Amino acid sequence: MAEAASQRMGLFSNKIGLVMGVANDHSIAWAMSEALYAEGAELAFTHLPTPSGERRVKRLLEPRAPKLILPCDVQNDADIARVFQAVRDTYERLDFLVHSIAFAPPAEIRRPYVDTSRAGWHMAMDISVYSLVAVCREAMPLMPEGSTIVTLSYFGGEKVMPGYNVMGVCKAALEHSVRYLAWDLGREKKIRVNAISAGPMRTLSSAGISDFDQMRDHAAKKACLNRNVFPEELGSTGLYLLSHLSGGVTGELIHVDCGYSIVGL
Ligand code: NAP
Repeated sequence: MAEAASQRMGLFSNKIGLVMGVANDHSIAWAMSEALYAEGAELAFTHLPTPSGERRVKRLLEPRAPKLILPCDVQNDADIARVFQAVRDTYERLDFLVHSIAFAPPAEIRRPYVDTSRAGWHMAMDISVYSLVAVCREAMPLMPEGSTIVTLSYFGGEKVMPGYNVMGVCKAALEHSVRYLAWDLGREKKIRVNAISAGPMRTLSSAGISDFDQMRDHAAKKACLNRNVFPEELGSTGLYLLSHLSGGVTGELIHVDCGYSIVGL
């Protein structure tokens, strides 16, 4: 069934993508992967090289049998280089990339921003922001003109969201990195780079944010659509940004948050 779906002609037939940041079936990257598979994409995946992470991801991906499931700690340049070498050896090119990775030690996210430690700040920025720069640089030589890259952000990068703290500052830096990367990769190779600002989703990462469920309840009450976003809606916006449908769009941040961010209440 899965194989049949991946073989039918779709928006992404004959397109090869790399998805970084699937932890389990609640991951935003998984919502995007399902949408991409439904449109015929061929996908390669990376996971953090921990035994439990590897087990989780391999179990989830088993029915799809992707050719590449590669360990990659984005803090490690050699891991990143190995991933793109493996993509080159297997496919010789890459048409799109999903970067859905962020991390800060939970204790750092929970403390007021003013109390962020130097080490915690560097780690959060390295994993959540610099990793996009590093993977864009490695992906560029493999990407034909017109290829696409998407990353994930949150409204806490634009406005102060109590409890989001150092991660909010990371998201601000990520969103501006998207603009500079859109310039560099656009000029060099006509590659487009965009970000989705997702409404709050229950995932492994969001479990590290204090009062997350209250944030979600509040978001649903305030949002224009009076609800929280569905994973499929992040998947379909991912399809749009990664496909030719968004041909003239680059350096953009699209809010998929049921209209939460436009309300001044
Ligand atoms: P998730 O399922 O936990 O995904 C985060 C991924 O980052 C996991 O696969 C995690 O691997 C990986 N990761 C962490 N450190 C890494 C490292 N050093 N090297 C490689 N991979 C690493 O959570 P998610 O909510 O889908 O998060 C995906 C993205 O969406 C993040 O950028 C997040 O900030 C953003 N976002 C989330 C929400 C939300 O409410 N959930 C809202 C807006 C934006 P392990 O699990 O193996 O550690």
